[in-house]
Amino acid sequence: MTERTTFFDTRLDYLKGLGPQRAELLNKELSLFTAGDLIQYYPFRYEDRTRFYTIAELMESMPSAQVRGRLRDWHTEGEGPKKRLVGHFTDGTGTMDLVWFQGLSWLEKTLRRDGEYVAFGKPQEFQGKFSIVHPELDAIRPDAEPEATLSPVYNLTEKLRRRFVDNKVMAKAMRSLLEQAWPHISETLPASLIEKFRLVGKREAVWNIHLPQSPAWLRQAERRLKFEELFYNQLRLIANKLIQKEEHPGQVFAKTALLAHFYKNLLPFPLTGAQQRVLREIHKDCLTGRQMNRLLQGDVGSGKTIVAFITMLLAIDNGAQACLMAPTEILADQHYNGLKPFADAMGLNLGILTGSTKTKRRRVLHEELQTGKMHILVGTHALLEDVVQFRNLGLCIIDEQHRFGVAQRAKMWAKNPVVPPHILVMTATPIPRTLAMTLYGNLDISIIDEMPAGRKPIKTVHKYDKHRAEVFGFMRQQIELGRQVYVVYPLIEESETLDYKDLTDGFEGMQRAFPQPQYQVGILHGKMDPYSKDYEMTRFAKGEVNILVATTVIEVGVNVPNASVMVIESAERFGLSQLHQLRGRVGRGSDQSYCVLMTGYKLSADTKLRLETMVRTNNGFEIADVDLQLRGPGDLAGTQQSGLMDLRLADLAKDGPVLTAARESAQIILETDPQLILPEHAPIRNHIDAIGRTQSDWSRIS
Ligand code: ADP
Ligand code: MG
Repeated sequence: MTERTTFFDTRLDYLKGLGPQRAELLNKELSLFTAGDLIQYYPFRYEDRTRFYTIAELMESMPSAQVRGRLRDWHTEGEGPKKRLVGHFTDGTGTMDLVWFQGLSWLEKTLRRDGEYVAFGKPQEFQGKFSIVHPELDAIRPDAEPEATLSPVYNLTEKLRRRFVDNKVMAKAMRSLLEQAWPHISETLPASLIEKFRLVGKREAVWNIHLPQSPAWLRQAERRLKFEELFYNQLRLIANKLIQKEEHPGQVFAKTALLAHFYKNLLPFPLTGAQQRVLREIHKDCLTGRQMNRLLQGDVGSGKTIVAFITMLLAIDNGAQACLMAPTEILADQHYNGLKPFADAMGLNLGILTGSTKTKRRRVLHEELQTGKMHILVGTHALLEDVVQFRNLGLCIIDEQHRFGVAQRAKMWAKNPVVPPHILVMTATPIPRTLAMTLYGNLDISIIDEMPAGRKPIKTVHKYDKHRAEVFGFMRQQIELGRQVYVVYPLIEESETLDYKDLTDGFEGMQRAFPQPQYQVGILHGKMDPYSKDYEMTRFAKGEVNILVATTVIEVGVNVPNASVMVIESAERFGLSQLHQLRGRVGRGSDQSYCVLMTGYKLSADTKLRLETMVRTNNGFEIADVDLQLRGPGDLAGTQQSGLMDLRLADLAKDGPVLTAARESAQIILETDPQLILPEHAPIRNHIDAIGRTQSDWSRIS
């Protein structure tokens, strides 16, 4: 591609109306270097100056207001740091005070007695009289009426402000920049989309996002630019997916004899509708001759394991091998033990490989994998080692996605030099649809959104610390019924020492309240050596311990069906998705399970919403949605590394409908014109060329 420079590459110091000093400040403080950078530095909010209020109309609840009036006179009050200048401002409906604590001498020099001004700021009321502290004050010139506008507020640094680059200066600079840029701004969306979604043009949108002509124009500008942003985000993800599909063939799994045998004779329960649907989606992928890259989302207990096993049968039936990789040894063991009975019943060889597999055993395993004698291998990261080679690996299932990176997935691909294995990634962390589309836009997504029938929903209650005696009573009652209890303490890195003290205090308290020999209380935390951890976990799993006091190390995947009570201490310190994950440790057996959220009395509004949500629902997707609303996408698991945060305007928590529209549009366009050669798609091509210079992966679709 040839380098074309455009107006948008103009360096800020060459830009008319800005000046080299301000340009340098913007370079240093905001990393803005070119006209293009500055134009894309959007305001983060607007001050509403679309109307003027009279003094009589002012209310304390107003975040800000602008008032037009006359500055009658002023005087100073107070001494030292309290010294202030108080101006009397009137508009015929009343009087108010304008108060300044800084810049007094300059003000006294420049203020005009009886001058007409517009004052803007937050009105405060004291004893029936309004005042504004440090108002913005603009003199009204006789020849120009003050403009009623929405004025942009930019994210500026303290240093910029001190050097007089404030919002007013920015707005002025933008106006000058936009006037110069106007003829250079070209449309980036095809006419068909603009028409279909009734979007405003690119030029108008860019102008109005900085300098809105009206609130209605601002809304349209935002809608248009968000659509564009999400459209290109999705276009890129989908294009990458198509390239991936095109470049990577996959084995065709057409034979289904093993499957039929399993369904007919061994299936332990009827599959849920969701499981059936997901299996159909997977099977369809495995018939295309292209590599499958699919994400399987399903809440804890929704039955992903059986889906994994059935998919493995498909691979084996067609002469391939399968592997299942889990993030921890405990989980790998659990999968192995869970799948073993099925594999035995089907006469299939199932092996396990983890860090603690003995060398001798390893040698045998390696051999059996290479000869094809071993059909299924379960394990941890140990599977990734180069010595682990298969005769024909056709399917790789990865459990708990967020612990494995892209690099590791790539390593799995390389395990089959002829045709890369189909990849199925399973996660129990529900991700709201909008987020999944963006985060995993290059994967196909299947969702199990239905629990097996007859599952008793976990009952969740919120209790204050004061009710501890009552909670202990409940625990005793459950233990008498033969159940086991988890008690979980938060562990937050910054205050690790304090947290461990909480944990050990809690453990000792529990030992006093549940004394030996009648009760056995165990403890489990991340600082214990692997052997002790394993020992404690095993004791609990065997039912030798009634209560396990633990940190969040038990969060991932541990399965003890007899444990039916989860007590979470200092629940206010956990995020929603973490609470939900923890709760998922119970409710795995046939007994009624309970989750008790313990907190102190002082709770923020957000915390209350988190607790209420937990009490109200067991649905992971619903919980993930609330979490997204509360925290925004940036804080959710896995999003930090995803490049997702390139979004400038769109907010995935709020802009779901725009995202869906943008994604569908991108999909249709790439399906009908994958090379983007149709004349009507020229705006897209041109835009990709323009941004392609900075974003390398686009070049691949040319
Ligand atoms: P997860 O999705 O958390 O991995 P599992 O696959 O471990 O869930 O399934 C949880 C439990 O539900 C297991 O005991 C499994 O045998 C059972 N199960 C799975 N699917 C069904 C079904 N369709 N009907 C009844 N029980 C099921
Ligand atoms: Mg599982």
